[in-house]
Amino acid sequence: MAFIHCAGARQHEGVNMPQPTGRVNEYCARTCCTAALYAANEIKARQPEIMIYDFYQDIRTYGRGHESYYEKASENGVVFIRFHPHRLPRVRHDTAGRSPLVVTSQDLLTNGIELQVPVDCAILATGVVPHDISELVDMYKCAVGYDSFLLEVHPKLRPVELAVSGVFLAGSCQGPMDITECTAAAAAAASKAAALIAQAQVEMDPFISKVDDTLCTGCQTCLTVCPYEAITRDPVKKIATVNEALCTGCGTCAAACPSGAIRQAGFSEEQIHAEVAMLLADTAAG
Ligand code: SF4
Ligand code: SF4
Repeated sequence: MAFIHCAGARQHEGVNMPQPTGRVNEYCARTCCTAALYAANEIKARQPEIMIYDFYQDIRTYGRGHESYYEKASENGVVFIRFHPHRLPRVRHDTAGRSPLVVTSQDLLTNGIELQVPVDCAILATGVVPHDISELVDMYKCAVGYDSFLLEVHPKLRPVELAVSGVFLAGSCQGPMDITECTAAAAAAASKAAALIAQAQVEMDPFISKVDDTLCTGCQTCLTVCPYEAITRDPVKKIATVNEALCTGCGTCAAACPSGAIRQAGFSEEQIHAEVAMLLADTAAG
């Protein structure tokens, strides 16, 4: 029996086939080394006579107490074969031999010699990929990372919050996590949501945009670019109007308005010019 790690994870451009997204999955799936070794130990506990070969590029049994799975697998006689990340193991049917499959791999632990291992079955420790949640992403304007998982505002300072106010994240929607990490993230998200609900009033970010009625021509450019659908057209005045509760102050509309009719609080031209002048003065003095 063979376990093959990193199937669909920690992939390399030019070595692995691209995923349907057109990219390879470069990230570690984080749970499969532990899961594979746990399964190997369970099999050995029930049927110690079964030979188990474990093909890996690195063993990453991170997490409290998880290293013991690795140690126990070694004690149980699991044979570890380390392959080069650019030279992946190959599995082929063997109609002539006694075993239906043969796994061929270079073994970096024995000076890179190539091994051919006949096995009855090959079990892939597969990577983790996110479901297609594009509808939800569009609806809530979620930020998505290069790996297609949802992106928190800051991994250390705001690890369970989206940039969209009032929307929190927990679990593997952010990336591969084990159950301990999922429950910790869920507890943190629930605390954040409870703290928000417990407030009598919610303070909004003051740096929102405003439309100057005297300059707006009603061209509606800003309506099309606002990612949070915070701008509507006033049917009476026939100009744009910003919903202050929805505006996040991203500034996209102010940059797009051809008439200069939108100003973002805290970022007026006078304020920007004053900042630049101060910076230049500091540079000249320093
Ligand atoms: S882009 Fe500017 S001018 Fe056009 S509707 Fe919006 S605020 Fe008015
Ligand atoms: S600042 Fe951003 S969120 Fe606010 S109205 Fe303009 S584009 Fe929309």
